[in-house]
Parts: sequence; structure tokens; C-alpha cells
Amino acid sequence: MAAKNHRTGMALKEVWRREENAICADCGKPDPDWASYTLGVFICLDCSRIHCNIPSVSQVKSLRMDHWDEAQVQFLAQHGNAVAKATYEAHVPIYYYHPVHTDCQLLREQWIQAKYQRKEFVEPGKQLPFSNGLKEGILWKRGRDNGQYFPRRFLLSEREGCLKYYTKQDAKEPKIVIKIDTINATFQPEKIGHPNGLQITYLKDNKTRNIFLYHEDGKEIVDWFNAIRAVLFHYLKVAFPVASDNELTSRLTRNFLKEGYMEKTGPRQKEPFKKRWFTLDHRRLMYFKDPLDAFAKGEVFVGSGENGYSVKQGLPVGVQGTFTWPFVITIVTPDRDYLFTCETERDRQEWVAAFSRVTEQPMTPQEYAVEAYFKLKP
Ligand SMILES: [Zn+2]
Repeated sequence: MAAKNHRTGMALKEVWRREENAICADCGKPDPDWASYTLGVFICLDCSRIHCNIPSVSQVKSLRMDHWDEAQVQFLAQHGNAVAKATYEAHVPIYYYHPVHTDCQLLREQWIQAKYQRKEFVEPGKQLPFSNGLKEGILWKRGRDNGQYFPRRFLLSEREGCLKYYTKQDAKEPKIVIKIDTINATFQPEKIGHPNGLQITYLKDNKTRNIFLYHEDGKEIVDWFNAIRAVLFHYLKVAFPVASDNELTSRLTRNFLKEGYMEKTGPRQKEPFKKRWFTLDHRRLMYFKDPLDAFAKGEVFVGSGENGYSVKQGLPVGVQGTFTWPFVITIVTPDRDYLFTCETERDRQEWVAAFSRVTEQPMTPQEYAVEAYFKLKP
């Protein structure tokens, strides 16, 4: 008996060590140490917990702590992450968002359910709720004044190239029409205070506007997210016919580089420092009085190092400020210096790293145009 167990244990390790099984089949996290013995995939602990919620299709065990009998090991050997990918991800649409380990619970949950439970990507050409360039439905939208959420009818149209919403159910005219090429969507469960919270940003007169939404049904809100990506992808495909599919998918939606509170002073650098919520959305640094404000109190363009933009720790020479948070950052732009303070050193390091990521990248022709817009601003 002992000998047999020993042999089985070796075999399990051999399968587990295969290169295809070196990252989680669902989120890509390295060194997965759980596996589904009904699907034959190697997954991380967090994804294994999501698999536990779909027991009709997936049964999981720890590769380290649980006993694996010979038949189960054979099953893993015959399946594994490469076979599973070829089966369950065979026809994932190019624009569909593949969650990673750091993404919110909802995105990872819906991805796993879509793959194994609903089998959305197993057969080619399946009509899915996000794939036909038109989506209509009710979403709960945060009102501007008192922070309450109201049901609003939304319409996304590839043909019209826009997302609109209506305040009254039977209204003929939309309250707002958002051009698809200015949209970004990002899940913000913590900020919105709802596990299915989605933030939409768009540009109006080169200023960022925010819409905060949710839907009680997690599948529905993720379908909206992928529908927006689908419409945007097809828009970009027409606008940039020579760009590769990879280039286009990298431009569909983006997470913010960093968000959080800092204190800021005014242009004379003598004004009292005020606590503001900051969002770094690629080259746009925005600040808000409240994290859920519909629009920013101010926006700063962050260009590249070669164009005179940089981030420094501490104050510029000769400047003295009255601030309560001790960890100072200076953002240098060709026009002026911006002084911000962070509550903790760790926070400062994270902001400096986020700004550096932006300034280290050269600017694209489109970004030069955005910079010019900012300079025109009164
Ligand atoms: Zn995982």
C-alpha cells in the first residue's frame, strides 16, 4: 500500500511539473497548487474557491494536502491546462477580457462560469449577449446629487458608435450620448461599495466625466463590459485598419494606474494644502473632492521625460509648504510644478512608481494632440 501511494505521488508531481501547468488555468498566477479532478485543470487557491461554487461541473482538491488516487492522476495527465484551454477557450472572442489574478472577484468568477459552466467559448460562432453590436437594458446609475442609485435605460450601438442612457423609461431623447472612442470601463467594487460596481469614464470637451453603475446580476454587468469592448474593438478596427489585433485589444479598456488620497496646494504653492482623491488614468491625473464625483475639479497632463515631465520626491528648491501629510511628491511639467503630499511613505513610493511608468514611455502622436488640448485650456 505504501509503495503504491509513493508511486502515485511521483506521478502526480510529474504531471503537476509540466510547463503547461505552471500557471493557473484561469487567472495566470504562477505555481498553482490546486486542481479540478473533473475538468483536469491546475488552478490557484483563489480560483479553486470559485470552482467550489460550480460543483456540478468542477470538483477541486489541494495538490499538496489531499489524496489523489491513480485514476484521478491519470485524468489530470490526460487533460491539463493546455487541453482545457484548447477546449474551453477555443472560441473566446478577440475583444473578450481575460481576467488576471489581481482583477476583482466578479471578473474572475464570471470568466470561470462562462468557460466551464455556460461553455460560452466551446463552439464557434455562438451568439452571446455581448457579441452582436447592440445591447440594451436597465442599469443602476449613481445620481449626481445625493449618491442614490436609480434604474436607467442604457443603449449601446455599434452602428451608431455610441453608448446612451435615458432618464425616463419611455423617454425619446437620451440624457447623454457618449461617443464610443472616448469610453473606458473599469470595475471598482470598493470605491462604489458594490461587488458589481462598474465605472465608465468618457471625454466631453476634453474633460473626463464619470458614471458609476451596477447591476445586481454579475453576469449582466460583465456582459455590458464585454459588449463595450466589442463595440470599441470594431470601431478601432475601422479607424486603424493596419493595426494588429493585439494592438487594438490593448486599447479597449484600461485600469487606472493608481488611485487614492493626496493633499495638494494651488499654483502659487502658498495656498493651504487640501485633501483630494486622485486618479491616474494613463496620462491624465485627475483630482476630485469625492471619489464618486461625476467630474474632476482639475486634470493634469503627464507627458514623457523627454518632453520635460518628471516626478521627484520632496519639495522643489526654495519652496516651503504648510501641510499635514509629510511625504511630498513634485510633478514637474513644462508649465509648472505640482506639489502633492502622501500620508505614508509606502503611498508615496507607489505614486512615484505609477508616475514614472507614465513619464518613462515616449508620447504617441495622439498624445501630443492631447497635450496641445491641455495647453489651450484657459
Ligand atoms: Zn487563479
